[in-house]
Amino acid sequence: MLKKIIKWVGIIFVVLIAIGATLYLIYLRPFMNTMKQTTTIQYDNELTIILGGGGNSGILNSDSMVLVIDTKQDEAAEQLHKMVSDMAGNKPVLIVDTHFHPDHSDGNRFYAGQTILAGGTLEYWKKRVGDQTLPTSWLKDSMNIEVGDEMVTVYPLGKNVHTANDVVVYLHKRKMLFGGDVILNRQAPALMGAANPEGYLATFDLLPNVFDIQKIVPGHGEMGGIEILNNFRQYFIDMKTAARDGSKREELEAKYKDWAQIPFFMSSGATIDVFHKQSINK
Ligand SMILES: [Zn+2]
Repeated sequence: MLKKIIKWVGIIFVVLIAIGATLYLIYLRPFMNTMKQTTTIQYDNELTIILGGGGNSGILNSDSMVLVIDTKQDEAAEQLHKMVSDMAGNKPVLIVDTHFHPDHSDGNRFYAGQTILAGGTLEYWKKRVGDQTLPTSWLKDSMNIEVGDEMVTVYPLGKNVHTANDVVVYLHKRKMLFGGDVILNRQAPALMGAANPEGYLATFDLLPNVFDIQKIVPGHGEMGGIEILNNFRQYFIDMKTAARDGSKREELEAKYKDWAQIPFFMSSGATIDVFHKQSINK
């Protein structure tokens, strides 16, 4: 009897390892590799957008200061910092973190002595990131910052969306929104911890009313226009519909089969599960 149990535990163990390895090789490794790649877009004389290498980043250069939106992770964070230092010289650098996830804020470690602005509190961040990557200043309300001839609004969402303390950044002259992971382009969201799909839906309604959005730099994926927000809104509406009506699930999930996904974690199925859990908790 015991031998049989041991044998079966062994078989289950091997099968689980095989499934894990397959998922890693098919989904996670290619995803991690594309995450590492960066693309630099010289949008205009002052604005540089660096896609990938963690979350997408922006560098807005002016005569008096340099604004950086999200500091990336690993080598890409180091490369970003080099670019920023070359532009800044002796000018001060102001950093905005859209949220605490390391793919967006790990590069904070390179900016000791500069101001790093974020949503939430020191206590909140201390529980989630290392001492080396803590922001220095905490947004209570939205804040306007003049960077050269651009007016920048740093806008904390004040509710659970991707995290409990997401911040978006709007460039008025360019009519451009940096959405952090509240807005993704053709990628399923990772909804962990405080993430709330209803918070996303409320935010998609709110943002176009607050800002005239012509251009969007999403947290991940290519930059584009307002269609990125509309497509991501439709994704959440579709997953909510699928959570309520199982007969539509297959068809609605198939709509997004070309999006970047990781099964169980960052996928249409995972989003539907979160909608399910939420309606049970209500
Ligand atoms: Zn991210």
